[in-house]
Amino acid sequence: MNTVPAIRRPIFAIAEKMRQVDRLLKSKREALMDMGDEQPMTLMDQVSFNTQRDQNVALVVFLDQSRRQLEETLGNFIESIYLLEYGQCRICGHPIPDERLEAIPGTTLCVHCAAKA
Ligand SMILES: [Zn+2]
Repeated sequence: MNTVPAIRRPIFAIAEKMRQVDRLLKSKREALMDMGDEQPMTLMDQVSFNTQRDQNVALVVFLDQSRRQLEETLGNFIESIYLLEYGQCRICGHPIPDERLEAIPGTTLCVHCAAKA
């Protein structure tokens, strides 16, 4: 059954991913703030400035989404630990294979139900 290290591992994995996302978010937000002071001189500068700014904005939006997904995963995971259901699909109730739990730490759906969700 669920041993403590097996439960702790996904929490560490999710926490580490959150730290990575936070670091990236911070650096991209800072890059965007720094760009606010720049005034491109030529049309070519303006084009590359806009491209870079748009890329940073898109990345910040994507990272924000990733952050929310990780928070949701962590919330579901902690909830499933409390319910002692970790490793069981929350829709069909079948056990989720260890390989899937390793690949997607904190997942609460088996591969079949995840495909349908
Ligand atoms: Zn299922």
